[in-house]
Amino acid sequence: IIDIRDLHKHFGNHHVLKGVSFTAHQGEVVSLIGASGSGKSTLLRCMNLLEVPDSGQVLISGEEVALAQNRRGQNVIVDPRQVERIRTRLGMVFQNFNLWPHMTVLENLIEVPTRVLGQPRQEAIELAEALLAKVGIADKRHSYPAFLSGGQQQRVAIARALATRPAVMLFDEPTSALDPELVGEVLKVIRDLAQDGCTMVLVTHEMAFARDVSSKVMFLHQGRIEEAGSASQVFENPGSERCRQFVNAQF
Ligand code: ATP
Ligand code: MG
Repeated sequence: IIDIRDLHKHFGNHHVLKGVSFTAHQGEVVSLIGASGSGKSTLLRCMNLLEVPDSGQVLISGEEVALAQNRRGQNVIVDPRQVERIRTRLGMVFQNFNLWPHMTVLENLIEVPTRVLGQPRQEAIELAEALLAKVGIADKRHSYPAFLSGGQQQRVAIARALATRPAVMLFDEPTSALDPELVGEVLKVIRDLAQDGCTMVLVTHEMAFARDVSSKVMFLHQGRIEEAGSASQVFENPGSERCRQFVNAQF
């Protein structure tokens, strides 16, 4: 479903991604681990075109994102409508929830389905209510985000990302802004999704969780995939010494 080929990204002179390739197939849970600054968020942001890669290819559900060079030699998006379309296939969940504060929980969930995807309002509401029940928060549908705990807000954010029926869910450290006692309720929702066969790419520092749910784990080091394989291979028997050191320091 996701096919990334030889991706490079610079910020000024800083070469952040140095030729990253990987695939995530239907039903796979791919976890990205690595030290702060290794390029994990940049890689996720290149997948949904919040960042435009300098070179390389991004294919989502077999569709290649069209990129071209402008006069200054920078890569740019050719067709913004293509990017819009591709983004609706990706459900994005960030560290800081990013709910719309002036909308209720239910309004947050139906906004994109009704306004962008043109779904009938009643249909969108039915799906939204089913998703809120799934993440255990149906009773809060008429609340505003500010009245919810961080864990509840993040569960709403997950439900909102699911409301466009994405092919893939992308999570960037979904629990790192939460108080420790709220982490578990969000991880449980993600674990349930994984068990339902939801395809996902997950950036996380929750190593024990990544080891449990991942079909594939990738260790990113200074913009390169230094180690990739099954969870047991990467966590218990990594070929790379750096990966071994990183993993050992986490447990
Ligand atoms: P963390 O675990 O702290 O979230 P990360 O692996 O997600 O780290 P990135 O956020 O991808 O790391 O950042 C990789 C490098 O790129 C860092 O050195 C960062 O400072 C730099 N960087 C990221 N975004 C930008 C930007 N918009 N402009 C300039 N530099 C950036
Ligand atoms: Mg990051």
